[in-house]
Amino acid sequence: MTNNPAQYIEQEHKYGAHNYHPLPVVLSKGKGVFVWDVEGKKYYDFLSAYSAVNQGHCHPKIVAALTNQAQELTLTSRAFYNDALGPYEEYMSNLFGFDKILPMNTGAEAVETAIKLCRKWAYEKKNIEENQAIIVVCEGNFHGRTTTIISFSSDPDSNKNFGPYAPGFISIPYDDVEALEQVLKMPNIAGFLVEPIQGEAGVYTPASDYIFKAQQLCKDNGVLFIADEIQTGIARTGSLLAVCGNCTCEQACERQATYVRPDILIMGKALSGGIYPISAVMADDEIMMVIQPGQHGSTFGGNPLAAKVAMAALDVVADENLIQNARALGNIFRNEMQRIIESCDLLVHVRGKGLLNAVVVNDSPDSSTAWDICVALMQNGLLAKPTHGNIIRFAPPLTMTKEQLMECISIIDNTVRNFIKK
Ligand SMILES: *Cc1c(COP(=O)(O)O)cnc(C)c1O
Repeated sequence: MTNNPAQYIEQEHKYGAHNYHPLPVVLSKGKGVFVWDVEGKKYYDFLSAYSAVNQGHCHPKIVAALTNQAQELTLTSRAFYNDALGPYEEYMSNLFGFDKILPMNTGAEAVETAIKLCRKWAYEKKNIEENQAIIVVCEGNFHGRTTTIISFSSDPDSNKNFGPYAPGFISIPYDDVEALEQVLKMPNIAGFLVEPIQGEAGVYTPASDYIFKAQQLCKDNGVLFIADEIQTGIARTGSLLAVCGNCTCEQACERQATYVRPDILIMGKALSGGIYPISAVMADDEIMMVIQPGQHGSTFGGNPLAAKVAMAALDVVADENLIQNARALGNIFRNEMQRIIESCDLLVHVRGKGLLNAVVVNDSPDSSTAWDICVALMQNGLLAKPTHGNIIRFAPPLTMTKEQLMECISIIDNTVRNFIKK
């Protein structure tokens, strides 16, 4: 054991694959909105593990659910029933308003599950000829890292030299209703897979009616509307799901005209509060029942530990009013960023919803300016990470208080004001 950060960085570099490029900070503890490095320095976490830690680090209620269940039963496999899965499935069905859930572990697995579900539905219910089903996706998408998913990525880092690519996908521009209308005229379209906000691409926030219109088009054409809410879901954008639009209630409901109910809903990340990999696909019987025993699954999917952790994580969202907090703090954050942008030419634009936001840096996408700003923020006690090129994503845990947010805004303000471009 050592508290020398360089040693840990060197160890990862030597013994681990180089598939990530972390900021040079080595963390050893997290609580709520804070993390601490091995030398004891405290930071505000403004990434929340890509929105997996919406409930804050090591939330005591979620940790308690984990440790209690870990001493009773962790894994049965789905060869047998267990006494936690049924209650979890009923909880999920009630909260999100779908007949059924199919539990998985990682986000990418849940996306794969949705793709399989959509295709099987297309052949068995829509009578598309075998192997001809097409799923429409959007340029700039991020849905995970499996071979099928990277086949329809438009990011060369994600797919270059990982071919041959899986067929059966067509990519259209994001936030373009007309492009969707055109592509839906083609034969054999089974589904439209979309992120309500493109997180990884740089928090691209579409027109406020895009998701609603897209869903209507899908409905009119008998095509499944598949929402990837892995990053945007679970209160992050100021509603339980981002597709809830401007709904002000805490649960998914059909009361608001702008409420969009996907045919297939994909969740992950904050479904566990960052304690354990848990993902889920939800749909009604008409779709979900096309999958029969032996046709899909996962050894760990639906294990009792995951079931208890997910229920605790979702209870925290309701008990601590994280939806309302994300919405209120998000408005403050964007207003304050706008104020900073107007008096400083290093930043040009802020966008986002709830507490999923990004700031665009005034430099070319190939420059290291966004990275350098993140290093300076780190030195000043705030951890954020650049996304594609010159964009910095800001996504703190939703348990943050207004006082803490104001302190973070002054850290950002001071950092950009004193920043000297390399
Ligand atoms: C993170 C993410 C995924 C992939 O989840 P993993 O758990 O990393 O496999 C898929 N879609 C979106 C929108 C994501 O943000």
